[in-house]
Amino acid sequence: VIKKNNRNNYKVFESSISKDFKAMLKMETDLRKALQDNQFELHYQPQKDLMSGNCVGLEALLRWNHPDMGYVSPATFIPIAEKTSLILEIGQWVLKEACRQNKEWQYQGYSPVVVAVNLSAKQFHQPDLVEQVEAILEKTRLSPRYLELEITESMAMSHEEDILQTLYELRNLGVHVSIDDFGTGYSSLKYLSRFPVSKLKIDKAFIHDAHKHNEAIVKSIINMSHSLNMKVIAEGVETREQFTFLKQELCDEMQGFYYHKPLPATHLEQVLSKLH
Ligand code: C2E
Ligand code: MG
Ligand code: MG
Ligand code: MG
Repeated sequence: VIKKNNRNNYKVFESSISKDFKAMLKMETDLRKALQDNQFELHYQPQKDLMSGNCVGLEALLRWNHPDMGYVSPATFIPIAEKTSLILEIGQWVLKEACRQNKEWQYQGYSPVVVAVNLSAKQFHQPDLVEQVEAILEKTRLSPRYLELEITESMAMSHEEDILQTLYELRNLGVHVSIDDFGTGYSSLKYLSRFPVSKLKIDKAFIHDAHKHNEAIVKSIINMSHSLNMKVIAEGVETREQFTFLKQELCDEMQGFYYHKPLPATHLEQVLSKLH
């Protein structure tokens, strides 16, 4: 009886593993095809400066328009792509497309804004990341000050020395670096003070739940950012109350459904302002 049970358990285990594995392989094949067939597109979420009221930035968010499944969320496919080197190719495409599109808006006479691009851990740890960024800026003719790279708190906090070096090189190049989903990881305040980053992005979890604790956390992140000479942006702002609170606490910028949802490039013309 014991033997039989063992066999059965083993079988169940094996088949669920191979099912997940097959699904992952299928997704990988689909992702490779997606790159070849141009199934990826970028949507852009406007970022509002709370002092001037102007749109000063756009976060580029990847969308996969799958032939059978329709739009697939990056939360689903980015982790799978991250397990393979595909994330590097996808990441390069995102960076190039975001820079190209931002320069295109400048050519069309819109008031320049910063485009923010999310980097995956693998992408950030590539030894030639800085050269890649430099080459893309040259090719697209976008000025480095209109590009921001978003890294997460955990990416910033691992292998401190290598990362400091990369961050200094990026700063010398003239691009901005921000820390995404700030407050969800385990930042060492000591390292944070040495980081050449220009902005902290307060994670939406602290904005959504208007709890006294969260209000205190948001206030202290705003104050800390300013003492470290960094800017601060709140993510996931959905209501007027959240907006009013952030403005009152002197948060620099905000992004969220209250202002705009992520929009396809063709819809941005209504948000960006013409220079003349
Ligand atoms: P993120 O970088 O923190 O991006 C913010 C996410 O919050 C986006 O989800 C955005 O659509 C969503 N969001 C914006 N405003 C609101 C709001 O008011 N309320 C709520 N509930 N959500 C809001 P999205 O587009 O599904 O992206 C999810 C994550 O996928 C991103 O989180 C980012 O980590 C990753 N991602 C997206 N594009 C890329 C990319 O090109 N490369 C890499 N490596 N990761 C990406
Ligand atoms: Mg982001
Ligand atoms: Mg975020
Ligand atoms: Mg994120």
